[in-house]
Formats: sequence, C-alpha cells, structure tokens
Amino acid sequence: MDITVALIGNPNSGKTTLFNNLTGSYQYVGNWPGVTVEKKTGQYKEDKNIKFTDLPGIYSLSPYTLEEVVSRDYLINEKPDVVIDVIDASNIERNLYLATQLSEIGIPLILAFNMMDVVRKNKDQIDTKKIEEELGCKIVEISALRNENLDELIETTKQLAEKSYENKSMKSFSENVENYIEEIISSVDSLKENPAKRWLAVKLFERDEKIRDEIFVSEDEFAKINSIIDKAEEEFDDDSESIITDQRYNFVTDITSKSVKKGRSGLSTSDRIDKVVTNRLLALPIFAVIMSAVYYISIGIVGGPINDFWADELLGERVPEAVGGFLSSMGVSDALTSLISDGIIGGVGAVLGFLPVIVCLFFLISILEDVGYMARIAFILDRVFRRFGLSGKSFIPILIGTGCSVPGIMGTRTIENDKDRRMTVIVASFMPCGAKTDIIAMFAAMFAGVWWYSTIWYFGGIVAVVVSGLILKKTKIFSGDPAPFVMELPEYHLPSMRNVLKATYNRGKAFVIKAGTIILLCTVVVWVLSNISIYGEFMEFENASTHSILSYIGTKLSFIFAPLGFGDWMATVATLLGLVAKEVVVSTYGVVAGLGEVAAGDASLNALITSKFTTASILSFMFFNQLTLPCFAALGAMKEEMGERKWFRFAIGYQMVFSYTVALMIYQFSRVLIDKQAFNAGTAVALVILAIYLYLILRPAKKEDNKLQVSHEGVR
Ligand code: GDP
Ligand code: MG
Repeated sequence: MDITVALIGNPNSGKTTLFNNLTGSYQYVGNWPGVTVEKKTGQYKEDKNIKFTDLPGIYSLSPYTLEEVVSRDYLINEKPDVVIDVIDASNIERNLYLATQLSEIGIPLILAFNMMDVVRKNKDQIDTKKIEEELGCKIVEISALRNENLDELIETTKQLAEKSYENKSMKSFSENVENYIEEIISSVDSLKENPAKRWLAVKLFERDEKIRDEIFVSEDEFAKINSIIDKAEEEFDDDSESIITDQRYNFVTDITSKSVKKGRSGLSTSDRIDKVVTNRLLALPIFAVIMSAVYYISIGIVGGPINDFWADELLGERVPEAVGGFLSSMGVSDALTSLISDGIIGGVGAVLGFLPVIVCLFFLISILEDVGYMARIAFILDRVFRRFGLSGKSFIPILIGTGCSVPGIMGTRTIENDKDRRMTVIVASFMPCGAKTDIIAMFAAMFAGVWWYSTIWYFGGIVAVVVSGLILKKTKIFSGDPAPFVMELPEYHLPSMRNVLKATYNRGKAFVIKAGTIILLCTVVVWVLSNISIYGEFMEFENASTHSILSYIGTKLSFIFAPLGFGDWMATVATLLGLVAKEVVVSTYGVVAGLGEVAAGDASLNALITSKFTTASILSFMFFNQLTLPCFAALGAMKEEMGERKWFRFAIGYQMVFSYTVALMIYQFSRVLIDKQAFNAGTAVALVILAIYLYLILRPAKKEDNKLQVSHEGVR
C-alpha cells in the first residue's frame, strides 16, 4: 500500500533538508524564501511505498502568494495520507500558527519539531508532551540536518496512515466562535461529508470568496452563513477575518507561553554577528570585501598557478601534443588531426581550462549561502534600494543567478507584484553566471597582478541591476511602490559540507556537461567555418583564419561592434556565437588560438588575447557580453516567465539597447581616461548617452497607474 506524505511548513524550517535525507535526493537547500517554488516528490529510500512531497514554504494557508496557492492546492486536491508540518523548534510560536490551520483540513497531521540540535544548544526547554496534549496531535522531535530521530518520524507516519492513531480536533478558537463554526458546518449540506469541513467552514466564516466558489453553497445557505457572520461581527465588534486571526494567535501564544522556556536571554551569536554585518554603515563595505575575497581566491589564487598547470600546460600543451602525436602515428589525415587537437581540444579545453576557477567560485558561494550570509545580502540590498523604489525581493533571483541565470529567472515567480516581477526577469541575467565567469577568467590572465579586475564584473552586474531598476521604475509601465519584503534572517550556522559539496558538484557538473555537448558542437562548427574559405575550398592550416568563412562573416559584421572598441572579426563572431552559450566566447578564442592566428611559436590563448585587446576594449567587450542577451537557455526561461510576447520583446529590446550603450560609454571613456587616447566623435556620442542616462535616472517618477492592480485588500 502506498503512503503519500506532504512536507509542509514555514520557509527555512528544514523541509528540503528533511526531504533530501529521507529520499536520498539532492534538491537545492537554500536560505531564502522562494527557493522551492514547485513541489518535488520522491520515494523514501528504505521503503519505496512511502512517497514524500516537498512543498514550498508558507506562513499560512490563505491563497495570497504563489507558494501558498501551490501548497494549498496540493493538500486540498491531492489529499495526501499524512501531512508532516516541519517546524523550526527554535521558533515554535510563529510556526504553530500554520499548524492550527493544517489541523483543520482533516488529514492526519504530525508536527516534526526540527532543529532540535539548535534548541539544545540554545538551552531552550520545550514541554513537548504538554503541547501534544493541548494540540491533540503527535509531535516528533528531530534534526533533519543531523539525521536524528527520523526513524521515529517514519514510524509515526506509518501509524497515522494506517489509522491506528487519530488526531483529536484542535480547538483553536473561543467557545462562541467554535459554535459559529459548528453552525456553519451544519447549515451547509455540501460540507457535511467533506473531510476538510472545519477548514472550509472557517474560510466561509472569513468570507473567503475563492472557497465560496469552490464548494456548492445554495442561496439559502449563503444567507444563513451571512447572518451567522453578522452576528459574530457584532458580538466581537470586529470583522470576521480578524476575529479568526486574533484567536488563532492567542491560542498559539497561550500554548507556547505555558510550555516553552527560552534558555538564553539577550543576544544570540547570530544577532551579534548581524549587528556588525547588517550595520547601516558597514554592511555594504563588508559585502564588498567578502565578495572581493571570493573572487580573489578563485581567480587570483586558484586562477594563477593551478590554472597555469591545468589550463596552459596540461590542456594547452601536453594533451594536444600527445593526441596529435598519437593521431599522426596512426596515419590519420592532417585535417582530422587539426579538427581534434586544434578544434575540439583547443575549444573545449579552453572552456574546461577554467574549471578549477569556476568550481572554487561555486564552492565559496555555496558556503556563503549555507552559512546564511547571502540571505543577509538580500536584506541589506532591500534596505538600501527600497529608498529608490526597488524591493529586496528582486535581488534574490539575481543572487541565485550567480551559478546560472535560468534558476534565477524562474525564481522570480515568487514576486507577487507583476511589475516588479517582469522588471526582475529583465535584469536577472546581468549578474555573471558560471559561463560568464569563464570569460572573466580568460581575460583575468591579462591583468595578472591586478586581481581585483575580476570583481568589477560582479559589482558591475549589481550596478547594472540597480541602474536599470531606477530607470524602469520611473516609467509608467513599471512604476509603483516596491513589493513588501518580509524575510526572516536564519540563524548563522557552520556550513554543512554535504550541502556545500553537493551544490558545488551540481553546478560544476552542469558546466562540464555543457562543455561536452553544446560547446563541443559549437567548436566543431567554428573549426569547420574557420578552415573552409569563402570559395568553398579547404585551406592551409597555417593561415586558416584569414580567408575563412568565419573571418569573412566576422569582418562583414564587425562594423556593429567597432564603436564599442572590439570591431575585429574574432570578437564579433565570438560575441554572436556567445548567444548559444556564453562559454562559446572562450571556446572560439581557443580554436582560433590553436589555428595559429598569433605569431608562430606562441599559439597560446593568452598571447592571442593580449594581441587583440587594450584595457578599454576588454572592459567594453566583457561588459557587453555580460549585459547583453543571455544564452538561449536563459532566453527561453525569460520567455516562459514573461508569458506575454510583448513583454518578452520588450525585455530583449531593453537588454540590447542597454548593453550596447553601456559598453559604448565604457569603451569611449576608458579609452580616453585609461589608455590615454584622444577625445573624438565617439567620446562625444558617449557623453550624450551619459546625459540621457542621468536624465532617465534622475527625472521624477511617473504617476502610478494602479487601476488594474488587484491588491491584497482588493481580494479580501
Ligand atoms: P526549507 O525552506 O524548509 O526547505 O528549509 P531548508 O531545508 O532549505 O533549510 C534551511 C536551512 O536550515 C538550511 O541552511 C539547513 O541547513 C538548515 N537546517 C535544516 N534542518 C536543520 C536542523 O535540523 N538543524 C540545523 N542546525 N539546521 C538545519
Ligand atoms: Mg525548501
């Protein structure tokens, strides 16, 4: 017999950690709301008949946010056999509010008091027996992170599913209100047989229109309900929804005050760290230092000596030489040898050459996430940018996007306000993802000794998000108050190596798989196109790239990028092919370097890059590639999340114009300021663009066009 179990609870209570431990799967464990938007199902690893579903975190069962709708619909429509409410036992009071609602839907309920390790450490005392009695449902104390007591949880689940134990109904309201609820149940026919009747009756009492439409209520019954509610509202001199909310809170507060004793008083270690880390003045500098350190370690340290060996020596020389030697000893034709050693090994090798850098970056960022620091960043950025009308909720998908923009873009679903959500979709890909970090690492070699260059793309990404936010918010279509952002800062804790290594492994694996598939395919195309001349004949390899189809196309189109400082054919084709996947920028240079574009005897990637770029054109090339249209995968995600085609088109248009104009300014200004070249017409154009940007950022905001927005109050 199959048992289906739903894991539900507040955000950050440990549902996904528990799910991963029970099912042996590796869902993303995150420290901020919106990480689990969709439900995930998996089998218990020791008994395939028990199926768990990990639901998005919610604070209540009201259908106001996407998470609430997903979780609630699952419980009501799929009717799991058992519901496990995962509760952060170090914060019982707030967590129990949801529990009282869950007890009403008529599905056997278990309260899993999670994070008991934290409770013990804090020396909190919880009288579980007493709470169990008051609530009338089973409580199991566990620690999902440390695998404590999970057997007992499973045992209890089985007992409940087999109905060998039954919950008493939780009486969360005062006697009068309980009577009103009873009255509603008995006056609506369609409720009587419904297992969720208590919950539905409460919802009807709260005048919930959605529920009224979902179940059958006749005219007469409806009138009866209304008279009950009117009576109650008169008695309590309050609206019915507030009566319910207040009484629920009182019920929960009453229980916790009787049975929970907080062990420590004063500030916890987390609070003390937060006093410094989220300090108004220090927060941003600390963030800058931490992220710079992350980039310094990945690119400055790992990217240096380790990369010299791995990328330059192993992948750059030994492997191609060995393979080349082997192939020619086998009598393989020169063309095939070049395809394999220059094309594939050169191109894919260039991308994989920076794997140590990328893995190190992923590793450090996973640690920051797991420790709880990244959640602070969203909080800090919210506080700073709320003043400018931007909500911290918009930063969360962007911070998630550091590995890959696709999950970041999908994460925008949790933003309720449509305007903010669309705006976030547009800017989410401005942050450097793993593939873009590959490009950064390639160029970083040119700045050997000036490691901080590599951080400017990270912070440049944040600046681009903020500037775009400011500009878009001033337009009529995106104006409006920033969505409220409620998030709780989780306690700091030592990183769990399992989580960190898993997150790093998953991100690194995706990167390697991409290199072996899509990038491989692209390098073959690039190799072929750079070896066949426009007259269709196969060319000499020595001067392969000069008359090739690739260089022909690149030269023809290079006028587009000339004002940005990288109007040579190679940068042009690399940028255009980068739409397939940003790693292709690197692999294209890898292939071309292998074909001997630079002086004989020095065919390395480094030499090629140095001969092609100046500081100004590198800055512009990099920022253009970072800010312009992302890869096809991310574009697909954007299209999906935007829904309407016109918004998708708007997003693409904005990204193209924004990246082009920004790269133009960067090139023109740094050409004059850093490379000390003369002021010219291009610089003048850049100044005009700058003036336009300043105007767009500083002008007063347009009046809000809020008529079509349905606010929460409106739904109620
Ligand atoms: P969800 O939002 O409910 O899915 O919560 P997650 O599973 O993503 O966990 C949120 C955070 O709490 C993560 O950093 C976990 O490592 C941490 N966590 C989960 N369970 C425990 C636990 O039993 N003890 C401790 N100390 N931390 C936990
Ligand atoms: Mg989760």
